[in-house]
Amino acid sequence: MSGTAKTHYEVIVIGAGVCGIYQIKRLVDLGIDAVVLEGAAGLGGTWYSNRYPGARFDSESYTYGYSFSRELLEEWHWKERFSGQPENLRYLNHVADKFDLRRHMQFDSKVTAAHYDEEENLWRVSIADGRELTCRFMIMGLGLLSIPTLPRLEGMDKFKGRSFHTFYWPHEGVELAGKKVAVIGTGATAIQVIAEIADKVGQLTVFQRRPNWSAPLNNGPISQAEMADIRARYDEIFATCARTPGGFEHEPDRRGFWEVSREERVKLWDHLYDQPGFAIWLRNFREIFTDEVANAEFSDYIADRIRRRVKDPATAEKLIPRDHGFGVQRVPMETRYFEVYNRDNVNLVDLSETPLVSVTESGLRTTVADYDFDIIVYATGFDAITGAYDHIDIRGVGGETLRDKWNDGPSTYLGMMVHGFPNMLMPAGPQSGSASTNYPRGIETGVNWCTDFLEYLRSHGHERADASAMAERRWTDHVTKMYAIMLMRKAKSWFTGYNSNVPGHEAGRVRYFVYNGGSPKYVATINEVAAKGYEGIELSGGRMVSAARTAMPQDVRI
Ligand SMILES: Cc1cc2nc3c(=O)[nH]c(=O)nc-3n(C[C@H](O)[C@H](O)[C@H](O)COP(=O)(O)OP(=O)(O)OC[C@H]3O[C@@H](n4cnc5c(N)ncnc54)[C@H](O)[C@@H]3O)c2cc1C
Repeated sequence: MSGTAKTHYEVIVIGAGVCGIYQIKRLVDLGIDAVVLEGAAGLGGTWYSNRYPGARFDSESYTYGYSFSRELLEEWHWKERFSGQPENLRYLNHVADKFDLRRHMQFDSKVTAAHYDEEENLWRVSIADGRELTCRFMIMGLGLLSIPTLPRLEGMDKFKGRSFHTFYWPHEGVELAGKKVAVIGTGATAIQVIAEIADKVGQLTVFQRRPNWSAPLNNGPISQAEMADIRARYDEIFATCARTPGGFEHEPDRRGFWEVSREERVKLWDHLYDQPGFAIWLRNFREIFTDEVANAEFSDYIADRIRRRVKDPATAEKLIPRDHGFGVQRVPMETRYFEVYNRDNVNLVDLSETPLVSVTESGLRTTVADYDFDIIVYATGFDAITGAYDHIDIRGVGGETLRDKWNDGPSTYLGMMVHGFPNMLMPAGPQSGSASTNYPRGIETGVNWCTDFLEYLRSHGHERADASAMAERRWTDHVTKMYAIMLMRKAKSWFTGYNSNVPGHEAGRVRYFVYNGGSPKYVATINEVAAKGYEGIELSGGRMVSAARTAMPQDVRI
């Protein structure tokens, strides 16, 4: 659809993932003149790109799907409790087709720049193919895990075999039988891909810098009868998701960690270890997130589980994290991951002992050995949360760049607006309710809020909206303060903005990326802001900003 002659839209949505798809649905339903610009060749975002073997949900499928259409809920059969990438992509395409959304999307349309034009009160959006579009409102559906990162290794272009980041796993598939394969990384993606390919390759060598805590996903099929039961319970399921901090079906154990005996704690953990999904993390005692001693006791329990599953004691010890406790970062879920290391064709290289030095023509070199490979898989994660924003030259009032403004970490109002960047909305932005939760639940909330806001502006004759500097400061302070009680503040993870492969994001500076107050509190806060006439946001008519400032958000309970 690129190449259409139309150059101005009321709203431009950037990104056609879970967020962009729902956002355009809401706009089209309201008759708002809008378009989605998507850099990839198809829709689906995360589920369009990550086609590596083993890519799947860690959210229960039926809690991940959209909740906005009863008809959609009634007709879709999730085949697995934790559905895989091909099915997830089919689902998102089905949604787009069902609601005839594809005709509002332009693919292969990567946005390279977006400059706010103060004179005209509009955004000038540049696309990689040379086009420039304008819009009054710009909605960012860029994704928080959409910019893959590679390690900074010498010689990466010299390798004669095939190499790719998991995000770019070839769409036509890769012949693995008999091949010598390296996987670099042991994060969430690596844990999925390693377990899936270990018995399909000739030799597998895993290069691990830091191990991650992980626990069984306990996936399984969903029969017709089970799906019928889920359909009948959808209202209840979504009500539970709305009530829980993470937006999942899992509710924390309300008993105090220290109120029950050690035997009772272990009994709960034995039970949770066999439960599906994030139960082990989110149905646990709340103290594991905040109390160092409680967390250490539980981490020891999981460490013992690893020791029981890995035959070679030395390998087991290498797979047990020492630098952080269980659950202080989003927990990768696994399916027979630890048993992989009992296989004769699998080798674990501990990079904390023998770091990687370079990529060679035939493979990888560590400080002590050379390894030959046919394929190198970089499972090295993402420039998370703010990466996709940093990749666009976004300039607001007075030419200020968002990249500079966020150099030390993001600052936002409600995770949805940024002072000095009027009419730019982020339904699932940094510091919003999405990043630390079951994403689509947060995304639907964010999209609904942004859409209602646009309706409000339209009905009140406002054409310009900018979060006040004070509102932004208060929100960002609030998000920052919440880290203080969480053990996650100490983890080297994407919750704290750590990524050794992104310049400036190496260890040392904590970035306050996610809102930790839980979904119910977040939703209550943003609804209150709306109810108070979008308190904290400076609203005005057309080209001139009104001198009268709206009230500061003193009264909003955050
Ligand atoms: C392997 C994997 C598994 C996951 N599993 C889960 C899970 O089980 N549960 C869960 O809650 N979350 C999960 N997530 C997080 C996942 O990203 C979200 O669930 C969800 O897909 C986010 O949707 P989104 O639309 O916000 O972003 P995305 O799906 O990332 O979509 C963003 C889109 O914006 C486009 N874009 C970005 N920049 C530009 C630009 N400059 N110009 C044009 N287009 C642009 C991208 O190409 C992309 O299509 C997973 C993530 C990964 C990587």
